[in-house]
Amino acid sequence: MFKSKQIQRPQLVLVVDDQEINRDVLGVILNDTYEVIYACNGQEALDQIRAHKDDLSLVMLDLIMPVMNGFEVIESMRADEEIKDIPVIVLTAEKDAELKALQMGAADFITKPFDIDEVVLARVGRIIELCEGRRLISAAEHDHLTMLYNKSFFFEYANRLYHYHPDLHFDAIALNIEQFHSVNALNGRDFGDDVLRILGNEIRAFLAETNGIASRFEADHFDIYCKHREDYEELLKRFQQKVNSIAPNVSIRLRMGVKPWSEDTEPLIMFDCARAACNMVRGDYQKPLVVYDDDMRARELLDRRLVNDLRTAAEKKQLQVYYQPKYNINYDPPKLSSAEALIRWEHPELGLLSPGMFIPLFERNGLIGIIDDFVWHESARQAAYWNNKYNFTIPISVNISRTDMFDTTLVEKLKELVEDNHLDYSNIKLEITESAYTEDSKLLLGLIKELRGLGFEIEMDDFGSGYSSLNMLSSMPIDVLKMDMNFIRNIETSETDRHLVQVVLDIAKYLNVPVVAEGVETERQLEILKDAHCDLVQGYYFSRPLPPDEFEKLIEKEIETERN
Ligand code: C2E
Ligand code: MG
Ligand code: MG
Repeated sequence: MFKSKQIQRPQLVLVVDDQEINRDVLGVILNDTYEVIYACNGQEALDQIRAHKDDLSLVMLDLIMPVMNGFEVIESMRADEEIKDIPVIVLTAEKDAELKALQMGAADFITKPFDIDEVVLARVGRIIELCEGRRLISAAEHDHLTMLYNKSFFFEYANRLYHYHPDLHFDAIALNIEQFHSVNALNGRDFGDDVLRILGNEIRAFLAETNGIASRFEADHFDIYCKHREDYEELLKRFQQKVNSIAPNVSIRLRMGVKPWSEDTEPLIMFDCARAACNMVRGDYQKPLVVYDDDMRARELLDRRLVNDLRTAAEKKQLQVYYQPKYNINYDPPKLSSAEALIRWEHPELGLLSPGMFIPLFERNGLIGIIDDFVWHESARQAAYWNNKYNFTIPISVNISRTDMFDTTLVEKLKELVEDNHLDYSNIKLEITESAYTEDSKLLLGLIKELRGLGFEIEMDDFGSGYSSLNMLSSMPIDVLKMDMNFIRNIETSETDRHLVQVVLDIAKYLNVPVVAEGVETERQLEILKDAHCDLVQGYYFSRPLPPDEFEKLIEKEIETERN
């Protein structure tokens, strides 16, 4: 049978405008490429759209018209399953109206008077292409809970605003709920949903007043793209008050990061910066608002560089382990009892980097494992080497990061370390920072029991800087308390601080574990600690952290003292 060759018909575009001149101009621009039909008001437009619902590719819609205006047309279209996915480009001279139309789900806007033909054609072509290929972008994709845009839709629009309206100076705002998982855990998911919904409502109310767009980026993360403003404190206060009003007896805290508008910065980058600013707030109860600035930018660039350079650093032997001695001051002269392994990074361009520069960064992004693996291996090797060379056992403490605790192979790794180097488990000690104990004490408790079962000693690092309760301490199996440096700093001048040191020592006595005082720098500090019956001291007074060959001199001196 003869089959007629299918002829590709041009796509159908409906132009809706009450002014004949505008219809004509668009007709001339589009006629060569598309089949164009016309309507002069909203009602006619809806009739046409319904009549051509199956083959209409695009509606170009004036907003201000008699009988029924463009907004009403969009509204009616969105309410009608059969035509709600047909894309709409709005034609308007008013920026505020465009934004409102976008919020209602228009796919794009073209400003009057019309751009040169090529621009109009390109925009029309792009929207049709976008909408016919995949799921229609014009059907505004909302997050059901908050009725804000979802992530992809939001960024699609933000990009358009940015590219087509360089004169709109928009800021990026990232808004989060502090510890939202605990809000959920303590009050139930329904309550959590209420919080999100009410916050979403308030964000929408704000947008209606000022123009802008917003999305729930994920979980409790909101992104807002709106006209530049200065009063972010006020805005945060407004959202915070709304959230407070939900349940006055539940504490829910918001934090906000802002990247103010700047020339040539795309929305994606703007929001990265806003989120980085927002993350800086974490834990700082005093300042729930951070505005991205040049310092943050410099820090971010440095962070990116350190992340990039880390892998080669390990290969090129830029990472070094330094050792700082701990002395037992119950002896006279004090006796070298062990050492703490501390990482140093000899960066070819940035110089010698101290851990404060990079440890917190790598703890956040998970790369800390690379550092810790290196330090543990190096320390175990060094301990074995010194055991053999001097026939002198010097236990080495290594730091275990919070994130290491979630590594299911941790116990196996540490075990191998000891066995591969033919060490005794008491040769390697593990320092775990106090704050890790408060974070997930159940997980930690199991882990520590296992490690102690093997014979490792556990030292609680930075004790007194966190918030461990006495109750928790007594159930936590630990072998040593390392008193945080801040206790020592002012003991010479402050009686209160001397009392606090005494409190820590009393706690340790109650737990029946020795205390290491960290950060001891002066003879007077040492005397005070001795009088208070502190057992062990680590600090510049005895020695700074040293490279292995210099540390050997301390071992040799110790052996010499013991011999006499
Ligand atoms: P930390 O474990 O509490 O280590 C003690 C810090 O106090 C070291 O700083 C040490 O140099 C410093 N210190 C010792 N005595 C004195 C003193 O008398 N005065 C003063 N002002 N400081 C003193 P460092 O080496 O800069 O390390 C800082 C922190 O970085 C460490 O605190 C530890 O939390 C972390 N860190 C260091 N190396 C590693 C590592 O290999 N892995 C992990 N995960 N963290 C590490
Ligand atoms: Mg430590
Ligand atoms: Mg410490």
